[in-house]
Amino acid sequence: MAVGVKTYRNSIGGEWVGAASGETFESVNPATGEALGEFPSSGPAEVDRAVAAAKEAYRSWRLVPAPKRAEILYGFGRLLVERKQELAEVMTGEMGKVLPEAGGDVQEAIDMSFYMAGEGRRLFGQTTPSELPDKFCMSVRTPIGVAGIITPWNFPIAIPSWKIAAALISGNTVVFKPAKDTPLLGTLFVELLAEAGLPAGVVNLVHGSGGSVGERLVEHPDVPLLSFTGSREVGTRVAERAAPHLKHVHLELGGKNGIIVMDDADLDLAVEGIVWSAFGTSGQRCTAASRVIVHEQVYDALEKRLVAAVERLRLGNGLDPETDVGPVVNLAALEKIHSYTRIGLDEGARLLTGGEVASEGELARGCFYRPTLFGEVEGGMRIAQEEIFGPTTVLIRVRDFDEAIRVANGIEFGLSSSIFTQDVNRAFRAVRDLEAGITYVNAGTIGAEVHLPFGGTKATGNGHREAGQAALDFFTEWKSVYVDYSGRLQRAQIDNQ
Ligand code: NAD
Repeated sequence: MAVGVKTYRNSIGGEWVGAASGETFESVNPATGEALGEFPSSGPAEVDRAVAAAKEAYRSWRLVPAPKRAEILYGFGRLLVERKQELAEVMTGEMGKVLPEAGGDVQEAIDMSFYMAGEGRRLFGQTTPSELPDKFCMSVRTPIGVAGIITPWNFPIAIPSWKIAAALISGNTVVFKPAKDTPLLGTLFVELLAEAGLPAGVVNLVHGSGGSVGERLVEHPDVPLLSFTGSREVGTRVAERAAPHLKHVHLELGGKNGIIVMDDADLDLAVEGIVWSAFGTSGQRCTAASRVIVHEQVYDALEKRLVAAVERLRLGNGLDPETDVGPVVNLAALEKIHSYTRIGLDEGARLLTGGEVASEGELARGCFYRPTLFGEVEGGMRIAQEEIFGPTTVLIRVRDFDEAIRVANGIEFGLSSSIFTQDVNRAFRAVRDLEAGITYVNAGTIGAEVHLPFGGTKATGNGHREAGQAALDFFTEWKSVYVDYSGRLQRAQIDNQ
């Protein structure tokens, strides 16, 4: 245990409590190695208590009128606005992304809180005519119960807000397990909800590992809803373990997102879009552009400009305004990223720049990887197929539009996609044919807005979406209501013949 490091706790039923085992883990700044706090290594017992608290709170929370629930979310959004700078600084310290991007992460939570608060006065259902006289029909959204929310570290405020704001406005209560790399931000998130006036037990926080806290939440019989964002591997396990309980499971998993650059593209714009999408958050976004699919007529020109742009990127602590690319999240990530550089070289790809751990000066204290670009990559190589989740991207040469689409679609994932072209016909064909939940035209693969559905096709998920109206479809169930005011028994499908 590091001397002088603050100890944090779980939040269960409105009380801040440690783990029964007394065991803790540390959160560490990936740029400096400094310990930021100690957190309880919780287990099934803490999950069980948190679920019991959420179940009890659900009895009254589901009956609070949605516009009243919304007032708390508006208050939460306002607190995020007030504390945006402070939260962004903590975020840069805890997981490394540069300060403007950390501010963007908090802004996304602000936007989502206000958006979902607005839903408090909508949550629209339908009214529709009956096939019988003197009968009224409508459908209403109903809450479901306790939602288990399991999140990754790469958007440590934004992703919890996507899930928790939608869960709450819909009338559900929550047990939240943040990633072990970002427990401090998870704690601040829940503290602010309490400050905004959320009743005790409506959102409970349990820190700890996926194996002990996550799995218990996934299997707990009183948690009918699970919203999970993370790797494909863990997501599949979540779905398998939840299946015998017939839970509603929402999975947002990995990506291997491609940017297509056609022969008529504005290359300066494309380079800017690629650099931002591939190296923002050190490439640790689910929507990161980890493949660039380039028409052969502009391949050489693009490669040259891209290498120059990537070599201009400055690595460093994300709090330094001069820094473009911060550290990766931890040592294991650093090793995994470097192992993919070796794989790429073994596969015969050409390393154009980067490809090494950066350890000069202050960088030696943290987990820094040099922005890495491979050229002459084949679509089937592992570096073009598997999620590296680091500052590495690959260039793939193609002959024409059809091949570009084939290569873009030739992966197991289907999250984000993009095409740079000036030709409106091609742009619309790409929108139609790219197998992905998100397609950008003349922009990189990142830049989602909170009022549109977010999520992916194929192995990126299981058909649900975050954000926008689509999120409500996961966090509510439909009830169809028939009110017969005829005074006699009318039998649908029989009495209307
Ligand atoms: P991860 O799968 O290792 O962990 C995600 C969460 O699951 C963490 O809270 C972890 O503790 C928990 N967990 C681990 N094992 C578990 C288990 N057996 N049961 C239940 N929970 C368990 O992912 P990560 O490294 O935190 O995040 C990176 C991954 O997340 C990447 O694959 C990335 O693409 C993906 N991601 C996807 C989206 C999206 O919206 N599609 C967004 C961000 C990140």
